Amino acid sequence: MRDPDLRLDELLQRGRRRTENLKLLNVKVPSSMLDRIDRLATLLPATKGEIVVALLNEGLLTAEKELQGWRPPTKPPVPKERRCTVKGCERERVAKGLCATHYQAQRRALMAGKPAPILVPENGTQ
Ligand SMILES: [Zn+2]
Repeated sequence: MRDPDLRLDELLQRGRRRTENLKLLNVKVPSSMLDRIDRLATLLPATKGEIVVALLNEGLLTAEKELQGWRPPTKPPVPKERRCTVKGCERERVAKGLCATHYQAQRRALMAGKPAPILVPENGTQ
């Protein structure tokens, strides 16, 4: 985008049409919007590209405000019967009673000829 500060207000206040071309690469405009953009470009002294850029800028600004302080939802805890059998590990088991991290650690150790650090669960009470 050439003008990251372009807003619809600016287009509304503009007195004369600017002739500069805005190139919009890889911007997919929904077909339902194309008619409205065409009409706006006719009504305002603005190019279609400028209108799309202004709309994108407004949308980004709105999204930024709305997403402030947003955090992704926390994952629910893994039920005990599906947890890794290594003491203190609360990840979900994927193979041989171990989570992916501990399974891979064990597998690497065995492949390197080292004693398996976690081969047997610490206790069988899981
Ligand atoms: Zn684990």
